[in-house]
Order: sequence, then C-alpha cells, then structure tokens
Amino acid sequence: MNSLKPLGRALDEAARAVLPGGVNSATRYVGEPYSLVAADGAYVTDADGARYLDYHAAFGAILLGHNAPVVREAVIRSLDGVDLVGLGTTPVEVELAELVCELIPSAEMMITTLSGSEATAQAVRLARAVTGRPLIVKFQGCYHGWSDAVARNVISPQGRAYARDPLSAGLLDEAVDSTLIAEFNDLDSVATLFEAHAERIAAVILEPIPHNVGALLPTQEFVEGLRTMTAEHGALLVFDEVITGFRHALGGYQEVCGVRPDLTAFGKAMANGFPVAGLAGRRDLMTRFSKDVLLAGTFNGHPVAAHAAIATMTYLRDHPDFYQRTHRLGARMREGLGQITAELDIPATVSGFGGVFVLYFTPGPVSGYRDLMRNDHTAYAAFHRRMTERGFLMLPMALKRNHVSGAHTDDDIDRTLEAAAEVLKEMRADGLV
Ligand code: PLP
Repeated sequence: MNSLKPLGRALDEAARAVLPGGVNSATRYVGEPYSLVAADGAYVTDADGARYLDYHAAFGAILLGHNAPVVREAVIRSLDGVDLVGLGTTPVEVELAELVCELIPSAEMMITTLSGSEATAQAVRLARAVTGRPLIVKFQGCYHGWSDAVARNVISPQGRAYARDPLSAGLLDEAVDSTLIAEFNDLDSVATLFEAHAERIAAVILEPIPHNVGALLPTQEFVEGLRTMTAEHGALLVFDEVITGFRHALGGYQEVCGVRPDLTAFGKAMANGFPVAGLAGRRDLMTRFSKDVLLAGTFNGHPVAAHAAIATMTYLRDHPDFYQRTHRLGARMREGLGQITAELDIPATVSGFGGVFVLYFTPGPVSGYRDLMRNDHTAYAAFHRRMTERGFLMLPMALKRNHVSGAHTDDDIDRTLEAAAEVLKEMRADGLV
C-alpha cells in the first residue's frame, strides 16, 4: 500500500537506513511496507493520510480500541506518581498482582515482565527448576516468543513441519532440541512423547487456541486430556494466554474451558497496548522465584504499564457486556464470511472465537496444523492486498487471525463484509480461488 505513496515511501527509506529491515520486529514487514502515524479507536492512519479500519490491532495488543480514553487517562495520571524506583515494591505493583490473582482462575501469585517472550521464558525455566527435568513439549503452529527454548516450529513449510524448524539463526542447538513437537488436538501425539521420554518432560506448553496459526479450536477432550496426562507424568501444564488472555474472557480461555493450568503466561491485551506481561500460577511453584529461580528485570512492574493494565482490566471487569458485544460482532463476521464463501463456492474455512476471526483458503475441517498445510497462501495474499486497498487492515500473513476490538461497530462489520464479498467475487473472476 504505502510503497506507492510518497510520504510512506520516504518514511520506509529512512527506517531502512537505521533499523535492520526497516522495522523493530520481523513480522511488522511482510510483503509491503506500512508507515502508520496515527491510531484512534478502530482506525489507523498512514503517513499519506489514508485511514484503515484496523483488525490487526497490534497483533492483538489492542482490545478496547486504540488510545482508549480510560487507559490514556490512567497513564497520564500515573505520571504524577512515582516513576521508577527499583527498590522494594510500589502500591501499583501489588494492586496489579491482586487483580490478576482475582481474575485468572488458576492464578495464586504472579510476576510481571515486559513481554510475552519473557513470561514464557520464565515459565520454561521455572518448570525445569521445579521438576528437575530438561524437556519441553510444544505444538506445531504455536508461538511462545523468541527465547531459544520455544523459538521453533510455528508456521513451518512443508518438509520442516514437525521436524527441526528453528525460527532463528544463533539458537543453541541443545535448547532447540530440548523442545519436542506434538500435534494440536491430538492427545496420542503427546502420549507418544511422554512414553519416549519418561520422566524427562518438565512441561507441556500451548496456546489454548493457537491464534498464531489463526484459530485452531481445542476440543474439550484435548484440554482435559492434557491436564490429566501432565499430572500423571509429573509435568507442568502451561497455558500461553498471551493472546487469549483478557481477550476471550476476563479469566482467559481457562475460564471458558474450565481447565486449570499450573502456570499461565499473559500479556498483549492486558494493558491495551502498553508493555507489560506476566506469569501467574500455583503458589507452591511461583514461590520458587523468591528462592532459587532468578527473577530480575529493571523495568518489571513499571508503573506506567501497570496503571494501564489496571485500567484495562478494571474496565473489563466493570463492563461484562464488553465480551457479549465483541463476541457478537465476531460471530457476525464469521457467519458473514462463511456465507459469502459458501455462496461463491470458494473452498474456504472460517474460524475464530469471541472477537477473533480468520479466513483460511482451504476446505475444513481444521483441527491441527496438518490441516492448515493445505491453505492457499497465495489466495490469502491477494485477499489481504485487495482488502487493504479498500481500507481494511488485516494481518498480512496467511494463517494469522484478526481482531474485533471494543471500538468496532455493527456498521464496521457490515462494511467489511461488503468489501470482502466484492474482493472474493473479483478473486473468483480472476481465477485466484
Ligand atoms: N505467546 C504468544 C501466544 C504470542 O502470540 C506472543 C507474541 O505474539 C508471545 C508469546 C510473545 O510475546 P511478546 O511479543 O510480547 O514477546
């Protein structure tokens, strides 16, 4: 989009001179450069003045809408209080931890971090410390951040899926190879690993809904089976609710499915765009952070982000209709996309949960990553480009999800569906689907 417009192009060129690849996070540049300069409610504006209805939502960090007044005001007020002291604790840190323990069903204690990657890295280290075991099980397609232990096997190409697929150069081989890969919604694949590595698996970590490949919906049998299996084998169950947390329900997906993990990582939406994340869980496990498991971080519990988190979470707690609304809008979007693709006879599957939706260009059903390997990425790229041209911003990578925030309206959903119908018709006519 912006690649053709003068101000966007200029900003992109300036960025490339001083930022590797022109961005601060690799997935911010996929396909086309984006140069966004303003954000408000459900909209973002690019350097050349074009406005986009935003379903990208900063990879899911925006939940109430961009610049939500309730969060803004809390942040501005926080600047009058203590800034960062780095000694003892401040009232806002205690308040945040109390709120998390009140809202997340399995949380008895918490630590704060600045990012989801730090939260999952701490989960892995804690799991190894309490079990005295080296191995971690993760699922093909799930993403848990950039630390060595988990940075493998997300959107793997044919040939590398389920095999060795590190996300980066420079990872320690021993760390990569200490993480084993299973198939989502397939308990047997996990049982096989427990059999092969008896008493060596410290934890099973999963996104309860793997939103890093769109939305694979877990069966109840699967999540309950993981709970039982990990307990039987003396391993921890870690829910990575960095995306599902606060987005699908105040208590995360564990509130929805009724399964209590031992540890939960969360972040993204909890402060509506401000940088804070955390790890919560059983008291007997978490207290190891006050003994022999290192808890450190200059900016941990930073007051500005902590105030933003408290404001976001308090707003959600005091407005339970928030979830009814975003879930209803999400359902309208999914139903609408389903109808359009069915009427046009396009081999597609619509998935999602709550306010999250994804359009896969493959026939269903879709239960694990294996099913997603049939997805037509080229068709998605065309869909994405044509929706962007019409002013609808979605995630640029095939297999990623989109988010309805508290700022989206019924009218936004109607307009999006109208545009999607036009785009898909055009793609049909152009032989792209
Ligand atoms: N876990 C999940 C499920 C995520 O989606 C992400 C980021 O996208 C992370 C962990 C890492 O979080 P962060 O990017 O804040 O480090």
